[in-house]
Amino acid sequence: MKNTPFRKVIRLVGKAIGDFGLIEDGDRVQVALSGGKDSWSLLYALRELQRKAPVRFELAAVTINPGKSVFETDPLVARLAHDRVGCHVIQGNIVQVVDQYLTEGTNPCAFCARLRRGMLYTYAAREGWNKIALGHHLDDFVETLLLNMLFNGTIKGMSPLMKADDQRNIIIRPLVFVTEETTRACARELDAPIVECSCSFDESRIHRRVWVKSMLARIEAEVPGAKSNLLAAMGRVHHRHLLTAWARDLPSEQPERGEQVRGITHR
Ligand code: SF4
Repeated sequence: MKNTPFRKVIRLVGKAIGDFGLIEDGDRVQVALSGGKDSWSLLYALRELQRKAPVRFELAAVTINPGKSVFETDPLVARLAHDRVGCHVIQGNIVQVVDQYLTEGTNPCAFCARLRRGMLYTYAAREGWNKIALGHHLDDFVETLLLNMLFNGTIKGMSPLMKADDQRNIIIRPLVFVTEETTRACARELDAPIVECSCSFDESRIHRRVWVKSMLARIEAEVPGAKSNLLAAMGRVHHRHLLTAWARDLPSEQPERGEQVRGITHR
């Protein structure tokens, strides 16, 4: 069979499920469908695996609409109906909440994402979906690790399998081995209707993550495989050669909030 981007995503999602034990017999898996390339790729890969997998699990998509005026769900719903994929759209007024409660120094999109996740978790717990699949890919894992190291002084990334903060839901991230480039190509192959949110906070997309992303692209160009190595490093931690056995409150010189780093404002 031809190794198309979609087939590659299916294979790597299958590997992640096997390596980390992400899905078990009888699971009810809710895919958080944002309408972007990553969640479309994830949903259709899981759907394909559902057909062939030796374990039986339920699958459906859930979309949180952050605000009617900033997000159009019709194309997404129409596509899922055409492909007979179960879908639930939850209408929120998150953008208004962000507008009202945003505090100085908080990234509005990160705040918005937290609120959306809260709605997702509440819905999953109420409806008995025991696992929530999020569309974070390899690049997200590595970028998060670097962001935390560079800006927060902590070694903290993402986990492919973890309990959510509210302790009620289990979060899985089956795209852990899939690069963003591959999800882009996969979504194109699937001809997925990409739906993106847009609101007055959209400018916040130009923030630290964009900077880290471009820095990683430069590193990858000079050191091919660097991103995969960084991901692998998250699973090969040598505590004896770190400060973890000794450090409690290490002194550090933190830059003032709002200070510029290569033209990128800290948020
Ligand atoms: S642009 Fe940001 S704040 Fe606005 S809806 Fe999208 S994620 Fe939320």
